[in-house]
Amino acid sequence: MSLFSEYLQKLALIGSRNSADVDHNRKQVVNITYLLSMLVGTVSAMIFTAQGWLVESLLHWAGAGVSCIGFLLSIKGHSRSARVLFPFACALYVSLCTFLFYGSDSHFPWLLIILAAYSVAGFRVESGKEQLSVCWFALLVFAFNKLFAPLTTGYASKDVQLFVSLATFIAAMIMIVLITGVVVNKLRKLNEHLRYHAEVDDLTKVSNRRKVLAEAVNVFADAVISNQRCCFAILDLDHFKQINDCFGHEVGDRVLQRCAQTMQNAARRGDWVGRYGGEEFVMVLPNTRLQEAFEIMESLRVQIGDLRIYLDDQDAPIAVTTSVGVAEIKDNTLRYEQILARADAALYLAKKNGRNRVEMDLSE
Ligand code: GH3
Ligand code: MG
Ligand code: MG
Repeated sequence: MSLFSEYLQKLALIGSRNSADVDHNRKQVVNITYLLSMLVGTVSAMIFTAQGWLVESLLHWAGAGVSCIGFLLSIKGHSRSARVLFPFACALYVSLCTFLFYGSDSHFPWLLIILAAYSVAGFRVESGKEQLSVCWFALLVFAFNKLFAPLTTGYASKDVQLFVSLATFIAAMIMIVLITGVVVNKLRKLNEHLRYHAEVDDLTKVSNRRKVLAEAVNVFADAVISNQRCCFAILDLDHFKQINDCFGHEVGDRVLQRCAQTMQNAARRGDWVGRYGGEEFVMVLPNTRLQEAFEIMESLRVQIGDLRIYLDDQDAPIAVTTSVGVAEIKDNTLRYEQILARADAALYLAKKNGRNRVEMDLSE
């Protein structure tokens, strides 16, 4: 079943340009619906052909043919025609089968329930009227079949009706599961996308300020609860404005990206790197003593100082240095902001003492 649905999903993606395509998921729903209808029509036609019931098999071949046309319309870009065709084709197919062959006792009209799932997932949410119209249409066709179709026909014995009602249930169930699957999958991807943009800095791809401060709160709380150490460091690139002024903002952006990458590489498992703002970064180091944090930052400072950023139109590469302030949690620290403030004061000292250096907060 999972292999089958995997192949079905792949087939359903034909004709969708990419996952950012806004109509991508609706198109996938329409394609899946047509593919399944094609399958149901073909299998039914083959069963009836094997039984020698040629008239019935012709109707099912026609159903499979219309589904094929709908699928082709959809993948050739006629999305709207393909989307609108299905409810009419489905209603005609169900009505003809019920009136001519199965009778309403077969419960075959219940197949129309798939139009409810189809209307919600296949049409734009903004097109609320279209969604509602499809549901009303399905209800009317269902009522028409239940009221006017014969309960049974000369073709359908009790066994055939039982078989048809089971097949109807299974087909409707598969269709609803697949359509809901597409919708849930879309929501999951959307959620991941939103979370990514809520937590990651667009330019440097490290955590943004909100995320790194949220982690700083967690690390601080853990340290207080388990009576452990933790350190925060603030890193500020030196004379960064000059880089922008000399080489332009784009080059400045590239320097920021390379520095952030270097910080991320230097981070140990459990450490957090985030962009605090502009050319300032924060590192959160759980379970770390001040001296250890100093050594990590000193090594990072050297790595950033060793970076060489080559430009196409420049012979000499760009180099950049960073100043760092580090502070540790203390017994009397009540809020994580106090550690940050002391790290900031240490950073100020690093700038004052000549830049390209790491200073520890040694205040009592
Ligand atoms: P200092 O050594 O004292 O830190 O000097 P500085 O030049 O690094 O500090 P200043 O605060 O004077 O300038 C920071 C500059 O960072 C100014 C601003 O244009 C630049 N900047 C902030 N965000 C970005 C960004 O996203 N991209 C680029 N290219 N520049 C940025
Ligand atoms: Mg700054
Ligand atoms: Mg700076």
